[in-house]
Amino acid sequence: MSQAPFLDLRHIRKEFGSFTALQDIDLEIRKGEFVCFLGPSGCGKTTLLRIIAGLETQTAGSISQGGRDISLLPPARRDYGIVFQSYALFPNLSVADNVAYGLVNRKTPRSEIKQRVTELLKLVGLPGSDAKFPGQLSGGQQQRIALARALATAPGLLLLDEPLSALDALERIRLRQEIRALQQKLGVTTIMVTHDQEEALSIADRIVVMNHGVIEQIGTPMDIYREPASPFVADFVGKVNVLPARLEQGMLRFGSMCLPCAGEDRELARVYLRPEDVLARPIEPGDLHVFEAQIDKIEFLGSYCHVHVLSPALGAQKLMVYLSLNFLSEQSLQVGSTLTLKLLPERLKVF
Ligand code: ATP
Repeated sequence: MSQAPFLDLRHIRKEFGSFTALQDIDLEIRKGEFVCFLGPSGCGKTTLLRIIAGLETQTAGSISQGGRDISLLPPARRDYGIVFQSYALFPNLSVADNVAYGLVNRKTPRSEIKQRVTELLKLVGLPGSDAKFPGQLSGGQQQRIALARALATAPGLLLLDEPLSALDALERIRLRQEIRALQQKLGVTTIMVTHDQEEALSIADRIVVMNHGVIEQIGTPMDIYREPASPFVADFVGKVNVLPARLEQGMLRFGSMCLPCAGEDRELARVYLRPEDVLARPIEPGDLHVFEAQIDKIEFLGSYCHVHVLSPALGAQKLMVYLSLNFLSEQSLQVGSTLTLKLLPERLKVF
């Protein structure tokens, strides 16, 4: 990393009694980055966010923000705004008073507060909602207010703890786009915790994939998706086919397939292959890695389908591929039909 990191976590460890929730976490975040902590329930992502916020104290390790050691500072003396999963607005305060909360605490002059609240409500797309109460707003609107409240003091760091998970599917997508646009406009360094891989892929500059209290991989969404560092990452991010294989004298064998592959001989290798890396067209005469398969199941998802196929070329293993609805209808393909597929061997991952 060329410039000094804005947020620098060194050897962070967290124990709850005899349970280790985080082990030796090292992480550097640049100014203006949008970083997602992604992982399954219980992997430690919320604990790590809470440690950055000072809401939880690390058992060991240090944190610095903007060159200042904040490891032991109480939350009020750190420089961040936070949005939680549950709306966490004060129900008995108006929208304006909720947004103004941090400014009042800082003894900001009243006229300035009024102006800032108007500006923030406009920024989150809810101008004129000052006098309303949280109970009169939808979940998505409440999260927009929570976001305005978190940004009110223009903090250096925005922390988002699963802010979208209580919302319905459409509202989640809308709000995540708004959050990203807002973050880019303001340039505020942001960390969002999520267990939703699609959310992380769509919003983050970099993703930190966590599992059992350790970081499995840090990378751009494209790195994480295309170059997963471990079977866990390949499995957790995106859909993947896993095929048992044998690696022998530089050749990878599964079913009747045989492809060149670097690595030591292994009786039990696993091939990871994304559904989109198996093509149904265009297949030209002379193409390599082509095989016949029979459709076992079609999951209709609208414009494209998850098509499960079986092929003697792959042994007894089922493979899932994506096919467009147009292709299926053009070729009159249905369960039981046979089709020709082609593997992209350069996209195979072997662990
Ligand atoms: P989720 O999405 O379910 O919140 P997470 O990845 O955010 O998952 P954490 O909430 O960080 O996970 O919890 C990590 C582990 O630490 C879990 O096993 C959890 O049970 C444990 N844990 C968290 N807080 C405490 C606590 N105060 N006391 C004891 N154990 C805790």
